Amino acid sequence: MDNSIIRVETLHKSYVNGSNALHVLKGVDLDIRQGEMVSIMGSSGSGKSTLLNIIGILDNYDAGAYYLDGIKIEKMSETRAARFRNKYIGFVFQSFNLISFKNAMENVALPLYYQKVSRKKRNMIALEYLEKLGLREWAHHLPSELSGGQKQRVAIARSLISKPKVILADEPTGALDSVTSEEVMEILKEVNATGISIIIVTHENEIAAQTQRIIRLRDGIIESNEVNHNFSNEVSAGVLLEQR
Ligand code: ADP
Ligand code: MG
Repeated sequence: MDNSIIRVETLHKSYVNGSNALHVLKGVDLDIRQGEMVSIMGSSGSGKSTLLNIIGILDNYDAGAYYLDGIKIEKMSETRAARFRNKYIGFVFQSFNLISFKNAMENVALPLYYQKVSRKKRNMIALEYLEKLGLREWAHHLPSELSGGQKQRVAIARSLISKPKVILADEPTGALDSVTSEEVMEILKEVNATGISIIIVTHENEIAAQTQRIIRLRDGIIESNEVNHNFSNEVSAGVLLEQR
């Protein structure tokens, strides 16, 4: 497919511990188009994070192929992997992964630090993203002073600052109550409406039901791939749209 942003073909991955090998991915095929919002479901230990980490070039695969924007991703230096990640991918995690001793603004600005943007400029841009996410007045607060939902919004702002083509969200609502989860989903839908592809790993049906396609992993392969005809990324009171 021409407009695939992510294409995975017969992907295999094992973890080797001493003489034991755990074959986690046993020939996964996946095709995600630019602008799609999909969920990956599967029981605990089914390899969802493993697959997401390979797509995010945080880990290598053993066999098969992975193409990101048509470019074959193979074993590469960490410098080159970081360059790909910076150009294409934003990450959102269940545990937020914010740096505890940096304030919200500095956390959001971090990807630009790696791109060698000056401190003044990156902080200014970070403030714009915090503003879009309704967090301007929290810019100088530490993560410990924020609620779970606010922390995840900071993480989303951080994922957006390098203008990714894809956001990989590993159980982004896993640590949040249902009302806050819903807020985070609304934000992700708005982000998706701007054309960014989103892959959400989740084991919650209510979350998956809000995505365009539900992909189920089981026994190391894609068990099913279900299009959700009710999908809509139109949100009523959008934070990003409202403040654009
Ligand atoms: P999921 O995200 O679906 O819960 P994971 O991808 O995290 O599953 O893990 C799949 C399987 O691989 C699990 O059995 C897990 O224990 C194992 N695993 C994950 N990461 C590693 C690792 N770094 N080393 C060894 N085993 C791992
Ligand atoms: Mg996982």
